[in-house]
Amino acid sequence: MAKALDNSAAYFARAKSISPGGVHSPVRAFTHVDADPIFIESASGSTLHDVDGNHYLDFCMAFGPLILGHNHSAVNAAAHAAINDGWSFGTAERYSLELAEFITQRIKWVESIRFVNSGTEAVMSALRLARAATGRTRVLKFSGCYHGHVDAMLVKAGSGMATRAESAGIPEATLENTVVAPLDDAARVEQIFATQGDALAAVIIEPVPANYGLLPQRQEFLELLARLCNQHGVLLIFDEVITGFRLSFGGAAEHFNVWPDIVTWGKIIGGGFPVGAYAASTDLMQRVAPLGDVYQAGTLSANPLAMRAGLATLEQLADGQIYNQLEALGTELETKIEKNPVFKVQRCGSLFWTYKDNLQADSEPFRTAAKVDELSDFFAPLFATMLGNDIYIAPSPYEVGFLSAAHTSADIVKFADALNEAAKKYPESSFG
Ligand code: PLP
Repeated sequence: MAKALDNSAAYFARAKSISPGGVHSPVRAFTHVDADPIFIESASGSTLHDVDGNHYLDFCMAFGPLILGHNHSAVNAAAHAAINDGWSFGTAERYSLELAEFITQRIKWVESIRFVNSGTEAVMSALRLARAATGRTRVLKFSGCYHGHVDAMLVKAGSGMATRAESAGIPEATLENTVVAPLDDAARVEQIFATQGDALAAVIIEPVPANYGLLPQRQEFLELLARLCNQHGVLLIFDEVITGFRLSFGGAAEHFNVWPDIVTWGKIIGGGFPVGAYAASTDLMQRVAPLGDVYQAGTLSANPLAMRAGLATLEQLADGQIYNQLEALGTELETKIEKNPVFKVQRCGSLFWTYKDNLQADSEPFRTAAKVDELSDFFAPLFATMLGNDIYIAPSPYEVGFLSAAHTSADIVKFADALNEAAKKYPESSFG
């Protein structure tokens, strides 16, 4: 039976008359699935509750921050305590210090942190710092990697940009300083370094790209980037807005044992409140105002509510147990989906991406955005079946799924069962 979605429909009619597309971030629209968005009213654990009284098992988890699940009790308590104490001072305060210390004590290569309000701000600030420190302007990024809506990064990007080459409204002069290479292409990167390595300020990469499907890179590729950056005086930026505190406490850098010059964080670091951060050696960060000549500021930066929620989240993660639990859950997911005749899952820790397996000859994981494009028209019937089975996944074939500590083995079974049902909608002939 079709779900009652009358209240969502009424909200959407109002919302689209007053905001572009009725949403406040394009990835929340249901454009890729030919439907209208569902309006959520509340959430707890692994469940979303909509305005029509429907419940969904959530595998989007707010696009990543909620590694502990929705409305986790420790984060809830920290946020309430912050509200009771006043939530914005515009002064120095102790909560950002506590969060920064908690991180630097555990991630040894990071010496100095600046908190901002989003992943986008973190990337924008990291690029400015890299340009100032090197005295160069050009930046190398990779096709399919999304680094927020920073002007210079909105070319060949992932996430909501996956189906657009670039954004309008960005001066050509800005994009002239962005060099784009395919992921996983050592020869191309070597060639770029040979011809313009000395003009590059930075190389920026999601070390496990997760905005164009999930495209795990080879260890050697990341090592090559680090080596070439080192040889040419280029700063390596790992954008760990998704992977930071998710693949391990020290993120992908720890996972691969490859260390960037600058890291950008977001999502988990604020426990679901608006936070980003960039971090590096003390030496480098001394270039940032008020000490140095790189200006970067924020009225609400490091606001106590977000800092305390972030600390409460990281405290739960620090002993590493949750990562073991998530790895076990991820393995269960893979095992349950192994027999699905149509869908496959590509996974890295608690990040997973479901795709239609019409490239069966390929036993290698997908590592480049180009491969994903061949797969993207499978998605609308899959999304509809999942939703019909009370399972919410991000409404786009390019977005990954997120497991959280609130998910259980029973949730994994429900996901796998729904995926089996979805498989029936794809005739054998649809295999490539
Ligand atoms: N970098 C990466 C890797 C991201 O996935 C995102 C957002 O999804 C961003 C940067 C931008 O972060 P925000 O949306 O908080 O601005």
